[in-house]
Amino acid sequence: MIIDGKKVAIEMRKRIKSQLEQFPDIHITLATVLVGENPASQLYVGKKHKEAHAAGMQSKHVQLAASISQQQLEAEIDALAADPQVHAILVQLPLPEHINKQAIIERIPASKDVDGLGAVNMGKLLQGNKQMVPCTPLGVMKLIQAYAIPTRGRHAVVVGRSSLVGLPQSLLLAEKGIDATVTLAHSRTEDLAAVCRSADILISAVGSPHIITRDFVKPEAMVFDVGVTRQQGRIIGDVDFDNVEPIVAGVTPMPGGTGPMTVACLLENTLLAARLQHAIPKAQQ
Ligand code: NAP
Repeated sequence: MIIDGKKVAIEMRKRIKSQLEQFPDIHITLATVLVGENPASQLYVGKKHKEAHAAGMQSKHVQLAASISQQQLEAEIDALAADPQVHAILVQLPLPEHINKQAIIERIPASKDVDGLGAVNMGKLLQGNKQMVPCTPLGVMKLIQAYAIPTRGRHAVVVGRSSLVGLPQSLLLAEKGIDATVTLAHSRTEDLAAVCRSADILISAVGSPHIITRDFVKPEAMVFDVGVTRQQGRIIGDVDFDNVEPIVAGVTPMPGGTGPMTVACLLENTLLAARLQHAIPKAQQ
């Protein structure tokens, strides 16, 4: 089975659009901040704006020079934080090396932190009281839900332990109600193939082309490919799709799997940000 992230993301966007009826007088606005001219980042930011518009939201882009100072960048974020017309702020990563990334993220108010990477949102996730959850791991959870993949008592292996993907992914899978037994693997994990082979649910967020080969999966596994490597204009996932797909129960394609879900979850978090700022509860569906 191919786990079709593109299809599920389109359904999510439709649902989000229909919820905008609850905000007749509010132009929900996502602001993106891009420092420098990394072509992949430009592409990602462009997609986010396109999808926001398709969902009926507004967007604003702040393009800044790669040479910007920490202080200047913080002032740009502070201006967006104080702007009542801006509901959500996304700082496209990576940032140039001279910038203290976490200090920038912490300037974003928790209610506008749609990437969920600030200390308040991360802390809430850790406490089992989640609010704004990082978009990529949230997208994987939505796919698990959309395909009714059983999680309770199942062994989930997450490869990669970044605060952007792997770590929040492992917390979401271990949450009460989801109830997976989680292993968080990384570059120091011994015998990664054997660890992955024991997974009922395998999520790879490494960024190493085709690191997950057919020797890393068991036949009943559900496999989610998060890793992205760009080589000569091609996008290559962590999963060796052609050799893994015939032997597992389900796998996401790359592209067309976790990527569209990341963007759909960004829109969902933007809607949540607007709800928080205007104290509008979620309608019963
Ligand atoms: P990251 O911060 O570089 O983290 C990579 C993780 O992979 C680290 O925890 C690292 O372990 C681990 N790792 C590296 N080599 C390994 C190996 N040989 N075996 C096992 N683990 C290994 O990257 P990230 O921000 O989490 O992103 C991961 C990938 O997902 C990237 O390719 C990124 O482009 C992609 N991504 C995709 C989406 C999407 O929507 N599909 C969204 C965001 C990111 P250590 O901690 O030990 O170094």
